[in-house]
Amino acid sequence: MKKIVRLAVLGATALLLPINAALAAPSSQFDKPADEPTGIGNTVGLEYSQSNEFKKLFSSAVADGRKACDQYLKDHPGASDMCIVSDLDETLLDNREHFSSIQKFDWDKFVDWVNEAKAPSLKPTANLLEWARKKGFAIFFVTGRPEELRSATIKNLVKNGIAYDGLYLRPKDDKRSAIEIKTAYRKQIEDMGFKVVVNIGDQVSDLVGGYAVDCEKLPNKIYFIN
Ligand SMILES: [Mg+2]
Repeated sequence: MKKIVRLAVLGATALLLPINAALAAPSSQFDKPADEPTGIGNTVGLEYSQSNEFKKLFSSAVADGRKACDQYLKDHPGASDMCIVSDLDETLLDNREHFSSIQKFDWDKFVDWVNEAKAPSLKPTANLLEWARKKGFAIFFVTGRPEELRSATIKNLVKNGIAYDGLYLRPKDDKRSAIEIKTAYRKQIEDMGFKVVVNIGDQVSDLVGGYAVDCEKLPNKIYFIN
């Protein structure tokens, strides 16, 4: 008898949450900052990025993002308010060439690399964004790169043929955490009238803070950003 009651309650919950139930990664999963992981760094991260596990995790997160977009279009016929928020580094832009040339992270060297504007695109993400934009989704990049790297970043995106609708960078001298800055930008985007259907990034700090229906976490063992 008890079992039946419990099942009935579960059934009612499922009926109340038809949209979330279809999402692989509802944003509520990312409700707190991640602890700094151990065993990450250039050598291990670069090696890991060649593994089947990495490739599988990466492509399944992207595929889940696409499913979330499809689900939103199905649930909101005729909608025109939808967008994707995407991070850039190690989400769309592939900096492995740079990381393979250094021993440990050095900000000045990273800036030199960014100014070369030659990071290739990570194809699964580039394909997701291209597909979504054709479906009517606006594409907003929210990156921890500072404002002074805007022109180099745009140059890289243009070179890679990436179409997008907005680029948000860390304001000059803004010392807030990645979570605070990125969440504030997503709020700003939603305040303009958009619905962030998918928020995708390689760091948990890209995803915590709400203002998204679905969150997709990509693998990265090269570095961690809180
Ligand atoms: Mg990133």
